[in-house]
Amino acid sequence: MFYWLSMTSSSLARTDDQSLEMAFNLSATLNVAKLLWAPSLCMPQMTIKSFGELPVPIASHIKGVVVDKDNCFARDGDDKVWPEYQQTWDKLHAYYQDRLLIVSNSAGTNDDKGYKQALSLESSTGAPVLRHSTKKPGCYEEIMAYYHKWDIQPNEIAVVGDRLFTDIMMANTMGAYGVWVREGVELSTKMFPSIERNLYDRMKNK
Ligand SMILES: [Mg+2]
Repeated sequence: MFYWLSMTSSSLARTDDQSLEMAFNLSATLNVAKLLWAPSLCMPQMTIKSFGELPVPIASHIKGVVVDKDNCFARDGDDKVWPEYQQTWDKLHAYYQDRLLIVSNSAGTNDDKGYKQALSLESSTGAPVLRHSTKKPGCYEEIMAYYHKWDIQPNEIAVVGDRLFTDIMMANTMGAYGVWVREGVELSTKMFPSIERNLYDRMKNK
């Protein structure tokens, strides 16, 4: 447990931008410390295999939906809805309208120069992309600022994403409803998603 948590911290800190590296390293370290204290912070309230399985409405108390992009509704690195999920996306967008918000750790962040990716994504999906300087799981204040005009509370927000250490941990930290997309467009063989699936199976069987 201690071994992979320390690996998580050091690897998350690797980025090309030195100042970002320092900021993100601090955020990652703090969140890893939280996980160590309470591993249940990365356990979702709902698990689906892929975005196409998302129920609409998600639950009767949900008024706002934060949705992740990479390997959630889009293929990793792509800026449009994966064709098989278009019907689900349209239904979700029609139901939640402007209260459907894309929060990505690529598009809309400081890594997205001139917010080109965010603009392209907004144009292809019709949904707003949050501009945020802090990456998930640390950007819940920026998310709450977006929902302020509707007076939507954290427990009325669903966070949908494929990553337990970012999407679902943020959902639990802010008191929202976490929906974990376990496989996404493609089952990732990367180290962290594999560690997350392993952790989930262990925690679930406890
Ligand atoms: Mg993702």
